[in-house]
Amino acid sequence: MENKKVAFVTGGAQGIGEAIVKRLAKDGFAVGIADLNLEKAQAVAEEVNAQGGEALAVRVDVSDRKDVIRAVTEISDHFHEFNVIVNNAGLGPTTPIETITPEQFDKVYHINVGGVIWGIQAALQQFERYGHGGKIINATSQAGVVGNPDLALYSGTKFAVRGITQVAARDLAEKNITVNAFAPGIVRTPMMMDIAHNVGKNAGKDDEWGMQQFAKDITLKRLSEPEDVANAVAFLAGNDSNYMTGQTLIVDGGMQFH
Ligand code: NAD
Repeated sequence: MENKKVAFVTGGAQGIGEAIVKRLAKDGFAVGIADLNLEKAQAVAEEVNAQGGEALAVRVDVSDRKDVIRAVTEISDHFHEFNVIVNNAGLGPTTPIETITPEQFDKVYHINVGGVIWGIQAALQQFERYGHGGKIINATSQAGVVGNPDLALYSGTKFAVRGITQVAARDLAEKNITVNAFAPGIVRTPMMMDIAHNVGKNAGKDDEWGMQQFAKDITLKRLSEPEDVANAVAFLAGNDSNYMTGQTLIVDGGMQFH
C-alpha cells in the first residue's frame, strides 16, 4: 500500500488550524498537529483518530527555530514521509499604534514571521530527505492585504508573510516546491473574539460592536467559519493547485478585492 501523504499544521489545536487538520485528515493526509498547547492538540488528534483518520500531536513553539525543526522531524520520522506544511500559528493582538511596546513587537514578529521562516526551513529539510518536492502554505490575513485599524503590529507581520511567500516561491520552485498563502477575513475563532472584545473596549462599546467594525464590510454578509478557510487550504494542499505558486488566496467573503 502506498504511504499516506503527510501534512504538518502549526496552531492545529484550535480555531482555523483545527479545522484545517480535520479537513486534511478527511482528504487522506496523515496529519501532524503542532501547537504550544499539547493537551488541546492531543484532544484534536484523538478525535481525528477516532473518526478513522491518522493524526499525531506534537508540542512546538513556532518562534523557536530549533523547536520547529525538532517537531517537524519527529512527525516526519513517525510517518516516514513529509509533503505539506501549513504555517498557521499566529497571534493577533490589538495594538493602537501609540501603545506598541518593544516586547510586543518581538513576540508578535517572532511568532507570526519567524514561525513561517522556520517552518519553511524545516519543511525544506524533509522534502530534501525524501528526494521530492512539496507544498508550503502560510497564514496571512485580509489585514495583510490592506491595513486594518488598531492592528499595526499584526498587519505588518501579515504583509511580511505575503512577501516571504512570494520570495520563497521563486527561491524553491526549482526544487519542485510551491509556496502559497491564505488570507482569511473575520473568522469565528478565539483569536477573533478577543480582537472584537478589545476593539469594542477601546471605543467604550461592547463585543458585538467590536465585531461589527470588521464584519460590516463583508460582501457575503456573514462571518467566516473556520471550515470556510480549511476548504481553501485543502485546495492549496492538493494536486488541483499544482500550477499555483507565490499567491495569496483571499478567503474573506469579499472584504478585499485584489
Ligand atoms: P487562534 O488563536 O484561535 O488559534 C491559534 C493556535 O495557535 C492556538 O491553538 C495557539 O495555542 C497556537 N499558537 C499560538 N502561539 C503559538 C506558538 N508560538 N507556537 C505554536 N502554536 C502557537 O487563532 P485562529 O483565529 O485560528 O488563527 C489562525 C491563523 O489564521 C493565524 O495565523 C491568524 O493570524 C490567521 N487569521 C485569523 C483570522 C480570524 O479571523 N480568526 C483572520 C485572518 C487570519
